[in-house]
Amino acid sequence: MRTVRALQRLSRVLVCPCPPPLFVRLWSVAQRQSFSSGSAEKPLPGNLMLRHLTSKIKATGPISVAEYMREVLTNPVMGYYVQNDMLGPDGDFITSPEISQIFGELLGIWCLSEWIGAGKPSRFQLVEFGPGRGSLANDILRVFSQLRGALGGAAVSVHLVEVSPKLSQVQAQCLTGDQSQVSASEDEPVYRQGTSTTGLPISWYRNLDDVPRGFSIYLAHEFFDALPIHKFQGTEKGWREVMVDIDPDEPGKLRLVIVPAPTLASTQLIQADEKRRHVEVCPEGGVIVQRLANRIAEDGGAALIADYGHDGTKTDTFRGFKGHKLHDVLASPGSADLTADVDYSYLRRMAGATVACMGPVSQKDFLKNMGIDTRLQVLLRNCADPSTRAQLIQGYDMLTNPLKMGERFQFFTMLNHSRLTRPEQSKGGKKMAPVPKKGPAPLPVAGFSELGLS
Ligand code: SAH
Repeated sequence: MRTVRALQRLSRVLVCPCPPPLFVRLWSVAQRQSFSSGSAEKPLPGNLMLRHLTSKIKATGPISVAEYMREVLTNPVMGYYVQNDMLGPDGDFITSPEISQIFGELLGIWCLSEWIGAGKPSRFQLVEFGPGRGSLANDILRVFSQLRGALGGAAVSVHLVEVSPKLSQVQAQCLTGDQSQVSASEDEPVYRQGTSTTGLPISWYRNLDDVPRGFSIYLAHEFFDALPIHKFQGTEKGWREVMVDIDPDEPGKLRLVIVPAPTLASTQLIQADEKRRHVEVCPEGGVIVQRLANRIAEDGGAALIADYGHDGTKTDTFRGFKGHKLHDVLASPGSADLTADVDYSYLRRMAGATVACMGPVSQKDFLKNMGIDTRLQVLLRNCADPSTRAQLIQGYDMLTNPLKMGERFQFFTMLNHSRLTRPEQSKGGKKMAPVPKKGPAPLPVAGFSELGLS
């Protein structure tokens, strides 16, 4: 009951009539549609990535789509994420935290409600994977700062897992006002450190394994869709892997081929009862989910994964984006984002019974359960400027409209099992009740059911 009251107090603060200053981020979004590699663009002469890939293929034969994606996106010298700040109106795509501040604020409330649901541990790590421009973390930290009272004396720290030195710089600027230090050696597990403008320690890592153990809330927004996938096609001879090869008719171009013999991946990664004829599997995502599940089971905490995805139903979702438009996945590699929908059924299978899983639920349902309608009303009540009001409404529509981001984006969570069970209350004393008395019902998991606003 104490935790329920705490959460209600917390939500009242969120909807208090003095909302944070309105600095609304909103840009128009080119709507993402499904696309497969068709009309190839002519590669730019001297395209270093293309040359790198073609010499690799010449040396070893066709490469898996996973290897292609990994090289194109995260090659340490010329990878797309390593080189670019690709988010926002001048970039290649836009994400929910960049569209409206309400998104990050509600995720901040989610983190707090899970911390309360876990019994308010004294140390609280917020861990974000692939923080992009840092907007989501920034909105969450503003909520933490405003609700400092609800956090009590908990020692909160922020841990960012980011492969891109370029984006880590953008994040540091956003979160610390550029008051961060880069490690002297490239081999340090923590490659950047600083203090948030709200006074919390922030560290940057390349891998989850380097993040300290302890109670943590893990967030991954549009992160898993950027991890490399393998692609498979069902044929008369069984499952075969789709790979990337040089086009024999145009040696400066790449093409997708179905390789004639099984590969290790095609024999290992397909479920025996698979009904689809085309399947994409992201083993790197599976490994991260397993590591998260183990950490959550051993140290406590929760993970919230939000991405466009499906529950084991979709087939060919591998796409490229450049300048807010669909882009041939094989054209000018390294110049465009590559992405594939997240298969939540696969992530759930990888998590196994180590943790409790909930979802996926649609972004519309998640945000409505988190109280987005109330939050919008409060912001509108306190805002007289017609253009800001219009932007708030437009952002709300973009996030929740089923025809925009409302249905395609989905939320999935992994929780420590104890989070969903009634604790047994010991009455002390050896002679007390042989049947232990149950404690209070666990707090509902916000977003996956309604946040109990009073
Ligand atoms: N979460 C942000 C950005 C999404 S773009 C948002 O929603 O706005 C994907 C992010 O993941 C980028 O920050 C990119 O640099 C990072 N990223 C991609 N692959 C990664 C990897 N293998 N390890 C760590 N970070 C990665």
